[in-house]
Amino acid sequence: MMPPYPIYCYTKGCGKLAVYKIAARWSDGITAELKTYALTCPDCLAACFRSSRARHAACRRARGEILEPPGIYDMERGKRDRVLHRRPDLEQRFV
Ligand SMILES: [Zn+2]
Repeated sequence: MMPPYPIYCYTKGCGKLAVYKIAARWSDGITAELKTYALTCPDCLAACFRSSRARHAACRRARGEILEPPGIYDMERGKRDRVLHRRPDLEQRFV
């Protein structure tokens, strides 16, 4: 669950409320989860998304592990990851 209190942008010195979550689906074939790369405000979204994609590209995976490229999700406080709304429209803008 996302905590019910305000969450701030991960960018150092930004101080704005986070609106988007950058996360990637990970699975080892048995369990699956959404790995969070960053929480970000709209201003830092482009930079955060690019650095998350770069981190993903540099990440080594074990055999049988699947890690999809990070995507952008709307942050909805108090909701479970599985109901997060993905934003491919924003992702396309930044690749
Ligand atoms: Zn920010």
